[in-house]
Amino acid sequence: VTRLEARGLGFAYSPDVVVLEGWSALFEAGEIVAVTGPSGAGKSTLMYLLGLMLVPRSGEVLVDGIPVAHLPDTDRARLRASEFGFVFQDASLDATRTVLDNITETALYRRTPRAPACVRARELMARFGVDLRAEHRPGQISGGQAQRVALCRALLASPQIVLADEPTGNLDHATAEIVIEVLHHVAHEGGTVVVATHDPYLISRCTRVIAL
Ligand code: ADP
Ligand code: ADP
Repeated sequence: VTRLEARGLGFAYSPDVVVLEGWSALFEAGEIVAVTGPSGAGKSTLMYLLGLMLVPRSGEVLVDGIPVAHLPDTDRARLRASEFGFVFQDASLDATRTVLDNITETALYRRTPRAPACVRARELMARFGVDLRAEHRPGQISGGQAQRVALCRALLASPQIVLADEPTGNLDHATAEIVIEVLHHVAHEGGTVVVATHDPYLISRCTRVIAL
């Protein structure tokens, strides 16, 4: 069971661009929490903070009650690889590698053998309808397909915490529905899901909404 907590988070890009101040929230296993707010409200920044990619100016991020926001880079990287799955709009794919290699790349960090990682990758690709694209490079697929590939990559390691930034942004309704079902599956299996979005339909399918 994984619980994610933000405690008094503060962050600023510069003295006059303060994004968060004293922001707290608790995300429990089994939940799909929508973080909403207008463009510029700080949704993406919050996701980077929760995902340990940015270090807060004040406050803490806790995973199962353990403070992790200020750990050294290598420890945060290890936690990211073992606990988190990221579905970010700008989580760009490596243009020089195939779709399959992009998806299995994180398995290397976890020392998962390549063969089972590829089996799981192909299952995920089939579910999202990009299995025929395994040997293509990111430049040869559409934006919507790239987003589905990023989702496969995020879910490969069966992460306990999934952070998704506008995960249905470029997708048609049918594919968005598949993504939403997968997020529900993650939560049902005891995962913790946080979704930053202003898509009313996606918000309606979340179990709780926090407005930024
Ligand atoms: P949202 O995801 O809700 O649109 P963001 O977290 O992207 O919001 O941005 C929050 C605020 O921080 C905005 O005012 C944005 O202009 C600013 N901001 C975002 N990224 C940067 C950056 N790298 N450097 C400076 N300011 C930034
Ligand atoms: P979408 O409906 O997801 O936006 P597109 O209209 O962009 O799809 O793409 C339709 C088909 O053309 C897809 O199968 C995609 O893989 C292929 N395709 C898109 N862009 C390229 C490209 N730059 N090179 C080769 N194939 C592409």
